[in-house]
Amino acid sequence: MQIGRALRWTAARHPERTAFAGRRRMTYREWDERTNLIANAMAGLGVRTGDRVAMFTANTEVMASTHLALQKLGAMSTPLNTRLSAPELTYCLDDAEPKVVITDDHARHVATEALAAAQVRPVLLHAGTDPVTGAEDFEAAVARSDATAPGVTVAESDPSVMLYTSGTTGKPKGVPRTQHNEYAASSAHVMQCQYGSGESTLGAMPMYHTMGLRSLLSMVLVGGKVVEMPAYDAARAVELIEAEQVSALYLVPTAFWALAQTGRLEDVARSVRKLAFAGAPMTSTLCEQLMAQVRPEVFVNHYGSSEIYTFAIEDHAPRKPGSAGRAGMLSRLLVVDPATQDGHKQLPPGEVGEIVASLDSDEAFAGYWRRPDADQKSIRNGWYHTGDLGHLDDDGDLWVDGRVDDMIITGGENVHPVEVEDVLSRHPEVGEVSVVGLQDDKWGQAVTAFVVPAQEGADPRALAERITTWAREEAPLSPYKRPKNVLVVASIPKSPVGKILRRKLVAGDYRLRTGSGEDA
Ligand code: ATP
Repeated sequence: MQIGRALRWTAARHPERTAFAGRRRMTYREWDERTNLIANAMAGLGVRTGDRVAMFTANTEVMASTHLALQKLGAMSTPLNTRLSAPELTYCLDDAEPKVVITDDHARHVATEALAAAQVRPVLLHAGTDPVTGAEDFEAAVARSDATAPGVTVAESDPSVMLYTSGTTGKPKGVPRTQHNEYAASSAHVMQCQYGSGESTLGAMPMYHTMGLRSLLSMVLVGGKVVEMPAYDAARAVELIEAEQVSALYLVPTAFWALAQTGRLEDVARSVRKLAFAGAPMTSTLCEQLMAQVRPEVFVNHYGSSEIYTFAIEDHAPRKPGSAGRAGMLSRLLVVDPATQDGHKQLPPGEVGEIVASLDSDEAFAGYWRRPDADQKSIRNGWYHTGDLGHLDDDGDLWVDGRVDDMIITGGENVHPVEVEDVLSRHPEVGEVSVVGLQDDKWGQAVTAFVVPAQEGADPRALAERITTWAREEAPLSPYKRPKNVLVVASIPKSPVGKILRRKLVAGDYRLRTGSGEDA
């Protein structure tokens, strides 16, 4: 199946249903027409099947509609992280070699510099023109265009999108995904989350990330409503959930944590029935809070990445908070010895190893964009090495134990930060927590917990003391896993998607809370 065809089909079936709610409100008929207009405008600029169109814009309707429009041409939508610096953006533009770049005021300053360096033409600006970059006005180009469906035959094997990985370990890598990959992953998402007719979701996760794309495309498949949310803000999320009667949320754990902090989960529970999270582990404390206060019918812990969406078959979180369940139907996952080269053998239950995913899956990519070195590193004998640690339990359910690179080696023992975080999050005074190994003469790496207090006003030193004592005397942690240091901080650094950036904590990029309530 092709994504453009799916949109046309939904528009024919539910022409008057609300498809998109935001600054622009559209029915499916209107969305289909708008994406035709954009597709024809792009074709008029020379965009053909396989060509890249880079988007460096806020997470708005323009991004969603242009992404869908490009599907009708079989062009490769290339949405880029708006927090890239000018050199990073230049790198991605040089790498992707897009035919067209679409940007906006939000991204203009970085984009101007990078576009000058990368010398891509033409540039469309939403909205307005820019003499410096020679950008033309996006809406004017669209207005001049034609609303009939573009007569391009798109094959399942044609490209749909290229996502760039965040590049925590070197240069960002392009992950090309085909129409078939995207349709398979999105329909798996529909099944996994049990989405049905009349569903509605927040478009809160950025569309340059797989979670944002899954939110968008799963709604297109079921004829659901996407509620525009250019930047995530928990208080605003509650307002939108109430105003638009949002029924399903797919967010990273930190976004759910912020939602819980508003104290308004009971209001969220009035319309929201389905919860799914991905991108990072959720602590059992937060899982339990969401279950108690939102009382969802479906609660999915979805494990996956840009490279491999994985289809978990069971709605596991309520029964086993923290477990990702089983890969099923479209995916095959194993937990293997990280040193495995060719023979991929499942480790026995309880043994931690690297999670690998079979590339013989409708959902999985086929290799990185122009990066044979990265392919060689991550793909062995048809298996994609995720760089994630995990284990299966006795029932065969998967538990994600964190990244291979984040593992702490202290006094010769391996400690998985996720396990320690999960235990520390049970302390009532702990709001957010992240655990890393800091260099230490005695231990090699010392288990160190960074804590954001659950309530304002606690004296940081006394709080750190209470948590340390609790970890020593009451918490179910073996002695070598207990934090050697607890540091109370104002906030924990996160990626734009909302993932905790442990490497920043290791590099000393944080602000300690001081007793006077000021941050140092
Ligand atoms: P990275 O985290 O490598 O910088 P990224 O943010 O660019 O990646 P993704 O491809 O979405 O983009 O990240 C996928 C990674 O997120 C996985 O490899 C895994 O480490 C983590 N992850 C995803 N889902 C879960 C989950 N349910 N539980 C725990 N970790 C998860």
